[in-house]
Amino acid sequence: MPTHLRFRRRSFLGLIFFFSLSTSLLYFIYSAPGIVNEYVFMAQATGIQIRENVKNIGAQVLEQVVRGAYSVNGTDYSYDFNLSESDSPPPTYLPEGFTYLPSQVCPDRLPSMKGRLEVNMSEVSLEEVERSLLESEPNMAPGGYWKPKDCLPRWKVAILVPFRNRHEHLPILFRHLVPVLRKQRLQFAFYVVEQGGTEPFNRAMLFNVGYKEAMKDLDWDCLVFHDVDHLMQNDRNYYGCTDMPRHFAVKLDKYSYMLPYNEFFGGVSGLTVKQFKKINGFPNAFWGWGGEDDDLWNRVQFANLTVSRPHGEQGRYMSIPHHHRGEVQFLGRYSLLRHSKARQKVDGLNNLNYSPIVSRRPLYTNITVSLSRKLAPIADY
Ligand code: BGC
Repeated sequence: MPTHLRFRRRSFLGLIFFFSLSTSLLYFIYSAPGIVNEYVFMAQATGIQIRENVKNIGAQVLEQVVRGAYSVNGTDYSYDFNLSESDSPPPTYLPEGFTYLPSQVCPDRLPSMKGRLEVNMSEVSLEEVERSLLESEPNMAPGGYWKPKDCLPRWKVAILVPFRNRHEHLPILFRHLVPVLRKQRLQFAFYVVEQGGTEPFNRAMLFNVGYKEAMKDLDWDCLVFHDVDHLMQNDRNYYGCTDMPRHFAVKLDKYSYMLPYNEFFGGVSGLTVKQFKKINGFPNAFWGWGGEDDDLWNRVQFANLTVSRPHGEQGRYMSIPHHHRGEVQFLGRYSLLRHSKARQKVDGLNNLNYSPIVSRRPLYTNITVSLSRKLAPIADY
């Protein structure tokens, strides 16, 4: 074949190749914005992380020297030479041997809160965790209720865990978190809200159900919204409601221990009951993965509240690796988020109906609920 024809054929094939590549890329971008967001973010995170490490290292060496010289808080809290983003000085903790009386309110910066925690993700049966946690603390009442005896708990915290098909994660979470909450001297109980039926997972609506059911039990004043696969890496991440609304899970291993974006409010968050009522709870309209935490962030802003976050390394978490079994992305989340403000008044605690099946287990209350769109009717946004 003459050269000019060969050349033309090649460029024709190249054009087809280019065309199909760009259309599939476009299709991918339009059909899966969430996936793309995440991968783009992860690629960016790696780049930013390298730059940030270099930038932070000088400041942190200096801080380490100063802290060493002045023994800033007299505890073993140590700094990593990476990823500290907070400019404020780290909070001070009570010294070892500090005593308090049963008639006093429990301190929130106890000497027993040492900082960094080991994370054990090995699988374990629920029965084994029940046995060992009840053995170490026979005062734990059915439903996982616990309160300290040596001081008056500062907060009564209901830990709400949305759940579907993750039975192996629950005992890992309890084994890890219960001892921390005892150390933090909080009054607490766990509510696992399990979605039945075949609709896509609705994390936010499960939280609303969990809240309503928990309040039938006790006048909780503090709510922690907790993903089942998130394990904190620092026991100074206090689950009381000091500075609320609070975003606890600031630095996730899956995001290279960086905040994906400033408005990120996912994983583990908390509000006082008063604040939760004020913002009309979570939205019910987010079916499938994603967006509901962004909407909660918007609700908090519209109520003129500001989100606080734990200092420096205290907000680190690891998540238990898993496959998103049958979970679907909620692609409509961006258009819903554009109307957060208007929807806040009509979609949330005030339009929710449901019929739960409630049972008490040694470490938690199980609330099973079958969800469907007609349980939370709203006009289309
Ligand atoms: C979703 C959020 C999610 C975040 C980080 C966003 O695209 O809307 O729900 O928490 O990504 O994964």
